[in-house]
Amino acid sequence: MKKMKTTQMGFSLVLILGSILACNIVSPTNVPTQEATQPPTEPPVVTVPPTAGDDQAGSPGLGDSLYPEFGNGGYDAKTYTLDIIVTDVATSSLEAVTTIEAVATQELSRFNLDFAGFEVTSLKVNEEAAQFERKGQELTVIPSQPLKNGAEFTVAVEYQGIPESMESQALPFPTGWIAYDGGIFVLSEPDGSASFFPVNDHPLDKAIYTIIVTVPKPYEVAANGLLEETKDNGDATTYRFEVRDPMASYLTTININDFDEETMESEGGVPIRNYYAASLPDDVSKPFARQGEMIDYFSGLFGEYPFEVYGSLVMDTEFGAALENQTMSIFGIDMVNTRDIEGTEAVVAHELMHQWFGDSVSVADWGDIWLNEGFATYGEGLWVEYLHGSEGLNGWAVGLYKEVSAYPEYYPPPGRPAANNLFNGGVYLRGGLTLHALRLAVGDEAFFEILSVYYDRYKFGNASTANFIQVAEEVSGKDLGSFFEAWLYENQLPPIPELGLE
Ligand SMILES: [Zn+2]
Repeated sequence: MKKMKTTQMGFSLVLILGSILACNIVSPTNVPTQEATQPPTEPPVVTVPPTAGDDQAGSPGLGDSLYPEFGNGGYDAKTYTLDIIVTDVATSSLEAVTTIEAVATQELSRFNLDFAGFEVTSLKVNEEAAQFERKGQELTVIPSQPLKNGAEFTVAVEYQGIPESMESQALPFPTGWIAYDGGIFVLSEPDGSASFFPVNDHPLDKAIYTIIVTVPKPYEVAANGLLEETKDNGDATTYRFEVRDPMASYLTTININDFDEETMESEGGVPIRNYYAASLPDDVSKPFARQGEMIDYFSGLFGEYPFEVYGSLVMDTEFGAALENQTMSIFGIDMVNTRDIEGTEAVVAHELMHQWFGDSVSVADWGDIWLNEGFATYGEGLWVEYLHGSEGLNGWAVGLYKEVSAYPEYYPPPGRPAANNLFNGGVYLRGGLTLHALRLAVGDEAFFEILSVYYDRYKFGNASTANFIQVAEEVSGKDLGSFFEAWLYENQLPPIPELGLE
């Protein structure tokens, strides 16, 4: 994510912070280390105690260090099918069915989903009616018969109503399904997905998705993945999108408006489709013209672009942020400045960088958010380097360093985000500087080898700060414990002697 912020910085880094916290987290025992094109989604870690008196109840949270109640234990969601009929775009009235295919990872007498608002009109497990209870964002499902450990099962939840407006726990910011005058967009990091579908809402439980949305004419829909079918129903249109690579729930997006669509392909063959709200001026597309070049450049540095397709979507409303939804980054119009193409390209590079670092390699714990935002910020620097060489990159890094040292309270150590300020300045700027300092300390060859080994080892899965440090030490052959301790956890901003910054 990238959030708009007014800054004193005198160079072209126009926007600063998204917000997510990074934290010093113990690596989950089951973080996948495999490489695979369709890697398995590992069962979530269960650390929250089950319901008192029922040792076959799935836990109501996954024990995240910042948000212990996010997600749920006892099962592993494999696929989601969202089938949403928007009966009225202006009021956001929905009739929907979400079907989840999952595997029990323990005996389950009951289990939880994360879900807010709506009237649940039917809930079935394996096509049999199931009881359910609701408390806050926890939807507890009680199947008619307990599920055996290892059993595959299907949950189908039918619901209707208008999504409740939600404020994220991570920052004072509306999140999830958001209707505005003219359309709808979905921006869910980290906890907004439960505002429109029942979900195991933590990046540890990735799944594949089918997203079916029906809208009244003349509205159109843009969502993650590939548009596989468009069906004309007379006065409404149904769109079906398929997301075939594992996706963290917070990266699910559905956007409704009248769009101008633009398609192209990178020289390396990655298809790109961009959506611009049709009311926007034509030149809104200009800062996105070089995405193909960026994809091929980043692919050369870290490994092949992870997904089947990429693209950006610009809405005709100001929401002060851009978000790296998987295969489709979305931008508020206030994040796009057509009079500063290069400044906006930095944001475009930031969201694209997340497709590798954040979307394909996802955090195992929200406290590790610097693994998303520090890396994406460094993606901005890499684009500066592409355009202006190493002198440009070093100048960019010196600018960041001066900003961080001038306003230390605004840029806390990136490894220790606060739960109510996940997307603090430190996880972005100081996180990005951590990578540049690492590069200067180990040299270019080892640095890019570290990034590509880390990406290859954890792609389509999850990683922790400890996993990254391990790869950095393994590849460089150096003991980097005190380096990372100083950069990630100590209040004092470390020096970068190679740039004369002490
Ligand atoms: Zn970001």
